[in-house]
This record gives sequence, structure tokens and C-alpha cells, in this order.
Amino acid sequence: MKPKPILYNLVPFDLAGHRFQVTVTIADPDPKGQVVSLPAWIPGSYLIRDFARQIETINAHCHRTKVALTKIDNHTWRASPCKGSLIISLVVYAWDLSVRGAHLDESHGFINGTSVFLCARGKEANPCILTIDGLPKQGGGWKVYTSLPPVASSSASMSRAASHRGSIRYWANNYDDLVDHPIEMGQPQVARFKACGAEHEMVFTGLIPNLDIKRITADVKKICEAQIRFFEPETALAPFLDTAFKYVFLTTVVGDGYGGLEHRASTALIAARKDLPVVGQSKAPVGYATFLGLVSHEYFHTWNVKRIKPAAFVPYNFARENHTRLLWIFEGFTSYYDELFLLRSGVIDQRDYLTALGKQISSVWATPGRHKQSVAQSSFDAWTRYYKQDENSPNAIVSYYSKGALIALGLDLKIRHDSEHRFSLDDVMRALWQQFGKNFYPLMDRGIDEKSFAGLVRTTTGVDVSDEINRWAYGTEDVELQKLFRQHGIELVWQQSNDLPTMHLRVRKQGENLVLAQVYEGGAAHHGGLSALDVLVAIDGLKVDASQAALDTILSAYQPGDSVEVHVFRRDELRQFTVQLAAPALNDCVLKFSPEAPPRA
Ligand code: ZN
Repeated sequence: MKPKPILYNLVPFDLAGHRFQVTVTIADPDPKGQVVSLPAWIPGSYLIRDFARQIETINAHCHRTKVALTKIDNHTWRASPCKGSLIISLVVYAWDLSVRGAHLDESHGFINGTSVFLCARGKEANPCILTIDGLPKQGGGWKVYTSLPPVASSSASMSRAASHRGSIRYWANNYDDLVDHPIEMGQPQVARFKACGAEHEMVFTGLIPNLDIKRITADVKKICEAQIRFFEPETALAPFLDTAFKYVFLTTVVGDGYGGLEHRASTALIAARKDLPVVGQSKAPVGYATFLGLVSHEYFHTWNVKRIKPAAFVPYNFARENHTRLLWIFEGFTSYYDELFLLRSGVIDQRDYLTALGKQISSVWATPGRHKQSVAQSSFDAWTRYYKQDENSPNAIVSYYSKGALIALGLDLKIRHDSEHRFSLDDVMRALWQQFGKNFYPLMDRGIDEKSFAGLVRTTTGVDVSDEINRWAYGTEDVELQKLFRQHGIELVWQQSNDLPTMHLRVRKQGENLVLAQVYEGGAAHHGGLSALDVLVAIDGLKVDASQAALDTILSAYQPGDSVEVHVFRRDELRQFTVQLAAPALNDCVLKFSPEAPPRA
């Protein structure tokens, strides 16, 4: 017997109060008492968020009779046994303007299914039908934007129209599918394009006068086509066509913000207004490459993490942390390729690329924590450390994004060199795609285990990288980039970013104060006794105004080796420390082509 679809209904019913009304209808509830739950986290963002805390009211009924719901943990309820359809209604507060949650006001609505759709436990494999009702009608009415396919074109009943009593109906193959397509509703700016014949939609929400959507679409199309052809050089088949008819970029534009979350046929992005081009601008804003890098990153995830997955994510367990030691591959390699595809698609040039790569290398080398934590550990501990960073994080942890990208770079350089340029990391990515990603849906039955990656590199390229993986990813050794670059005719040199003596700390402005954001372990400030979160008051009796520039001006009067008296407030107590200033650090990594011809392999 075919499992009956679980029916979901979503109504943006209180715009001013930011409330969605959600109804779930389960036709054949568990006779022992149906259990339902909301995810504790959203895939791609590795932190327990307890979305159920935004449920304001929840109740159940069957044949118009109230059914008791008993809460059994933070996000799970058990309904009393009932005969007939179980209908559960909830009101969810939606006021989180991030890519991870849900948001609703009079201008638009945005949801991730993980914030609003209860899972009928034991029926995760049932198909789901979603209707969205009660969309505001003002100004021509709100429209819905999502990669979920409408019912009429996906179910067997093709004759039934997508419109059902004036509402819009969407189809999901199962619960995992239902919550992997964020939904935007409102009156955004929209543009469509085809990449390798596949439909793509760009949706921009927020006030953005004169947005140059044509320019953005042209650039994004180049990136998408380059990535599609990379993974499928022969067929140029877009990856998302296994589950959807189109790929959707849902971008929320804000004054200041940055972020993205990947999904199987879409992505939710937050972008800063100043980073987007407007009509008539001859030169795009400086931050535009950052926005395109984000687009490139999330699109690459359509293959790498949404289909090629660590075994620990197959299937996702929505109730608790899903630990994997492989995020350095899924986030790190994606971070390596996001920038590389800006170069390959012609959106940036070689000089910009080397500058960006130099910055990434500098950022990893700036963190003493890389000597303490491996990227494998950092992946495993993402839930409690990378996603819960504090003032000491640079001293204690390493980013599986940044160092993972450098490992990808190191492996790429090594494979190219050792295989005499017959193979590269590209071949490894395509092998991963063929073996794990290409047919991932609908079965969702395979993922990479921790030990098989080095073997896959070897069978694909003939190059043994197991020692490098052990040292770089499972150990805390730095990737030997200087040596590897030299083999390819590129010089990596370290320069001073300025010629001021340094205290080895980072500051941030907090109101009228300059606060020590980070004090690097083993540095001048650390030796002198200063602590992160101290409020800088004066140096040698001179008041420090609340800016990096003000601090620099004071430091410019000194030489390395000079000692200064530093007054700080620690909580509300004035403290005095003596700090011996250090020589300016060689913290700026610069890459350039060697003047002589690159040595042969
Ligand atoms: Zn990512």
C-alpha cells in the first residue's frame, strides 16, 4: 500500500505579530499514539537551535474532538491514540532574519521548513503536500518563490491544477525533501536565466533601489555553467534536476550582513546592500566579488554536501548533533573551489585570485589555535566550538573552512606535480560525484566514511596523499605551501602589513570604547598581562580614542622593543600593565609568479 501523503498548510496570518499558522494532517496516525517533532537544527549550520522554542501554541484534534498532546522532550510531542486523521495546528513566531530561521512582516515572509513543519515520526518517508494560503493581496498580491515543485507537475494526477481553492500546492518526496527547500513570499525583485539549459531564478528581497539584476544574472550564469560543466563535462546536466525543475537563489538584502545556507535545489543568502551593483555603475562595488564568491560557494554545495555527503549525514538525524570529522572536505574544499570558479568563469582575473588566496593563507596563519586543533577535530566539534566562538577562539581552534581550503590547495598542487600534470583535485571531485553524488537521490543510501578519501584519491590519480592527509587534516601541521607553490613557479612570501610596532592583539569599537577583541597567545600583550575584553584606556598616559587608527597613531611614536604602560578597565577596575612592543609581524602572505620558468616535475 502506498504511504499516504502528509498534508501541510501554511498561513502567514499575523504579519505585524510575525506569526505563521501551520497545520499538519496525518491520515493514518500511529495507533499507539503518533509522535511528532520539529528539528533541533538545520542542515548546513551545525548548531543545536531548538526551533521548537518559537512554537507559541500547539494543539491536536481528530473528528473535531480534541486530542491530548504530551511534550516528551524539547522538540517532540506524543498525541493520544485516535482513529482517523490527526490534525495538529501550531502557531510559530517568525522574527529571525537569517538564512537559518523564519521571518514574517508586512513586507515579506521567509521560512525554512525546519522552523515550521512538524515531522510525523515513523512516516519520514511519506510524501508531503504543502498548501500555502492567506497570502496578502495588497499591491497585486504576494507570490511564492521556492524550488519545491508544484503538485500538478510532479504527482501522478497531472490533470489536477496547481491551484487548489486559490492556494498553491507543492510536492515533496519525503520529510527530508520538504525541509530542504526554503520558501520566500512577497513581492521581491526576480530574474530568471538558463544555465546549460536548466532554469534558474534569482530572488532579491529588501529595499534595493536600481539593483542591476541583469549584471548579477549574467555573472551568476557564468559561475553556474562553469560548475555544471566541471562536474558533468560530457552531459552538462545540472545536478538539481533529480529533485526539482529549477534552482532558486533567495537573497535577503540588508544594510550589513553576510551569510548563506545550501539546499538541494536552492540557497538562502544574506547580502549587504553596498556589495550589490546598481544600474549605471561603470565599476561594480568592491564587495561584489564577495557576493559572487558566496553564490559560487553555495552553488558548489549542490554537489558537495547536498549529494556527495559524509556518511554521518545519511540520513540526517534532526533530533541531535550529527558528528563528522569531514567538514574540512565539505566546507574546506567548497571554500577552495568557490574562489577558483570566480577565476574559471572569468568573473575575476588571476591577480585578484592570487590576492584572495594570499588573504586566506594569512588568515589561517594568524590563528595560534591551528597548532592545537586539527581540522578533523574542528569538524567534529563544530557544534560546540566553531559555532560557539568566543574571544579565545583564535588561540584554541582552527577553521575547517579556511584551513580545509588550504588542504584542498595543497592536495591540488601535489596531485598536479606528482602526476606530471595528468591529474588534479578536479578529477577527485568528479570521482566523488560519480561514486557518491550523482545518484544520491532518491535512495539517500550512501555517504563517504572517514577512511576512504585517501584511497579514492589514489585510485583516481595514482598519487598517494595519505601522509599529507594524516599530517594536515588529522594532525596540526601546516600545509607546506611555500614548497608546493615553488614546484609550480609561484613564490609565496611573507610581508609586513604595516611598519608599526605591535602588541599582537585585535581591537573592536564598542560604543565609545576600544575593547581588546582578541589577545594572541604568546604575543606582546599576552606577555604583558592584557586580556581579551579589557577596555583600552590609555597608553603611557595618553587617552586611546575608540578606533584602530587612534591606536595606530599612538603606536607610531614607538620602536619595537620599547615598553609602554597600558591602562585598561577590566570590568569596572582600572588596571595597569607594562607591555614590551614587538616588531611588526610578517603576517601578509603575497603570491607571485617567479621570474624564472617553473621547474619541470
Ligand atoms: Zn559552505
